[in-house]
Order: sequence, then structure tokens, then C-alpha cells
Amino acid sequence: MTTELTSLKEHYLRCVRCGQCRSVCPVFEEIGNETATPRGKVFLAHMLAGGELKADAEVARKLSLCLLCQACTKECPSAVPVHKIITAARCRLAREISNPLQKLVFREIWARPSLLNISTRLFRGCQDLGLTGLGRSLGLLPPALDLAGRLPRRPARCYIREITKAEGAPKMRVGYFLGCTTNLLFPNVARSTVAVLSRLGCEVVTPRDLKCCGLPQEENGQIDAAETLEKFNFAAFQRQGVDAVVTDCASCFAALKESIAFKGMEIMDLSSLLNDLLAGREIKKSSGTTTYHDPCHLAKAQGITAAPRQLLDRTCAAFIEMPGANNCCGSGGTFSLYHYDTSMDILDKKISSIKETGAEVVATCCPSCTMQIRHGLLKNGLNISVEHPVEILAQSLGISFKA
Ligand code: SF4
Ligand code: SF4
Repeated sequence: MTTELTSLKEHYLRCVRCGQCRSVCPVFEEIGNETATPRGKVFLAHMLAGGELKADAEVARKLSLCLLCQACTKECPSAVPVHKIITAARCRLAREISNPLQKLVFREIWARPSLLNISTRLFRGCQDLGLTGLGRSLGLLPPALDLAGRLPRRPARCYIREITKAEGAPKMRVGYFLGCTTNLLFPNVARSTVAVLSRLGCEVVTPRDLKCCGLPQEENGQIDAAETLEKFNFAAFQRQGVDAVVTDCASCFAALKESIAFKGMEIMDLSSLLNDLLAGREIKKSSGTTTYHDPCHLAKAQGITAAPRQLLDRTCAAFIEMPGANNCCGSGGTFSLYHYDTSMDILDKKISSIKETGAEVVATCCPSCTMQIRHGLLKNGLNISVEHPVEILAQSLGISFKA
């Protein structure tokens, strides 16, 4: 949850400019410019808060050069919450600089499922007619559009009922937070989550009226819009009387965990819950040699690294750890849209690490990372699939879906 920039003063004043954060910042590693360092951005935020720096487009550009990966926050010996300071500074900038496009996208379209659905259908229609390909080849459309890949025909919503009964005696009534990206781009991840939870004895509630988790709004400075969405989603689950809320998206998970609106409701990591539900059960290995990429929102933000690996150990014939599994893939939510070239430079390192393992499958728990890594593998002509651990588990349990 974002806080007012000036209220973080005691935190940014703790920065002693030691520079330790420079060594872990993937953006600085590519750009090599002091303002791109975590401490440089903390300093900019400090000056902005004190009025020594005017809010303008150049300051906004410099503060947009951050993946919010939290590597610096984890590394800082003075415990400076760099990512929180940068997020708060972006909120301040969004209030002081008019950016109608950002408002339209994050407040109007992304915050309304019906408009988001229409936009996605239009995009899919353009793909079908070859317009996006033509626009790209003529250089009229940005390369970041390729990240979405070929959109599925239907969103997950079309396949998932509001209440999915447990197979056998219900062990718990779990709320499923279906995030926007999973819904629109990865319907089989959502279908796997619901089917697997139901198979393992959970009644799954997927409220019809869920909206975006609020993270894209928060990352882009639209904090009041993010808070409205969080309250709305909390009320949707509260009406259903669920025991806990679970999600298959690392970013949605971090957003719900850190949301003030969701305080008092148990938010569970999907892999941890599945490991518990699978205790004592032998299952078939369904995936070949597999490696795992740690999403920043799960590993650095929430400290969850073991549970997805334990789940993969149950379902994969062989698991190989990749070098730098915990390093950011360069997606950073919307970062890859704003800074495509830098994002691709960061991604190249991740692709080299994946290649080094010789794995046939890369597993990860975040739809943004999946898009990014899939894009990098395709660009490099590598025939390696990217799957969510829950999709692999679904295969192990003999669950499959018709298109
Ligand atoms: S590591 Fe922490 S104290 Fe050192 S420069 Fe970076 S933010 Fe400042
Ligand atoms: S959050 Fe990540 S990208 Fe942003 S300044 Fe810190 S290390 Fe760099």
C-alpha cells in the first residue's frame, strides 16, 4: 500500500548513499547512469518531497525507470524501503502532472472489467485480421505489443462458475481471486487452479464481480483508484463468507497481502495451500526437465521461494535450478511497455540462464513473467514452454480442458 511521500521522510533520510543497492539493481546494470540507481531515485524523491525539484515530465521519466522488483530494498543495510519511496513519488507526480492517457488506461479502462474485455476483444480482432502484424512490420505499433502473444479466444471467466463444488467432502470454502492478466491471457491457468482446488476438496468461490487487484494503478501513481478497487474486491469476498482467498498470480497475491482493505482476511499462497492439500498423496510426474523463475512479487515481496519448488518436485521428472532464478526478468508489470529496450536487455540475461539449464519447461507463478519469458524464448527461437506450477499439477492429476 502506498503512503504519502512526505510521511516516508524518516525512511529516505536513512539513505547514507553507500551505493550497496547499485550492485543489485537490474535497471542500473543496463543504463549505468547515477539517476538510474536506487539511491539516485531515492534522492530524486527526497528533493521532490522537499520542493527542491519541480514535478515535470523528466522527473517522471527518471522515476519510471524502476521495475519495483525490491532487490534494492532487500539489499539495503539501512533498511530503506526504496520501492515504496519510488511508488509514493510516482503518486505525487501523477497528482501534479496531467497525464490524460495514463488516467484513461488505469482509471477508466483497467479498473472496469467490461471495458477491459472490450479492449481485449478488439485487440484479438485486430490480430485475427492481421492488422497488428501489419502495424508492427510498418513500424506503426510499438514492439511491446508482441508481449501479449496470440490472445486466447475466450477469457477464463467464460469457463468458471461463481461456485465450483468440492469433489468429495469439502475441506474448506476458498475464494479465488482471478486477476485480469490470468483471466484474459492465460485462461488455462485459472481453469487449472479451480479444477485442482476442487479435486483436492475445496469449494471454490470466484465472485462474478471481481475487478483488478489495484497493483497496475498503484504502480502508475493512481493510488485512490487502487484503494477503491481493493475495497470493492474485499466486499465481494466478504459477501461470500470464504475461509481464505487464494490467487495464482504473484502480483495479485502481493497486492492483496499488502492491502489495508484486506486486513483481517486470510490471503494464502496457492503453492503452499496445494502442498498442504497434497500431503501424503502420491501423484504422477507429468512434466519433463523443469526449471523455475522466481517472480519478484512472490520471492522478494513475500519471501515465498520454497513452496513452488516443493510443488514442482512432486510433479516434474527432473528439476534443475537456474542460475539467478531470483533475478528479475525485466517485466516489472508495465515497465516493459514504457522501457521496452531496457526490459529486453534485462530479459536476455534471464533467457541465457534458462538456456544454461537445458530445461524443457520453465515454471513460474506470475502472468507478467510468463508473458515476458515466453516472448524472450520465442525471440531466441527456443522451444521451451512456460507453465504455471498449477497447470503442471493439473496434468499430473489427469485434468485436461477442451479449448
Ligand atoms: S543501499 Fe540503502 S543506504 Fe545505501 S545507497 Fe542504497 S538506499 Fe541508500
Ligand atoms: S526496485 Fe529494482 S529496479 Fe527499482 S530501483 Fe530497486 S533494484 Fe532497481
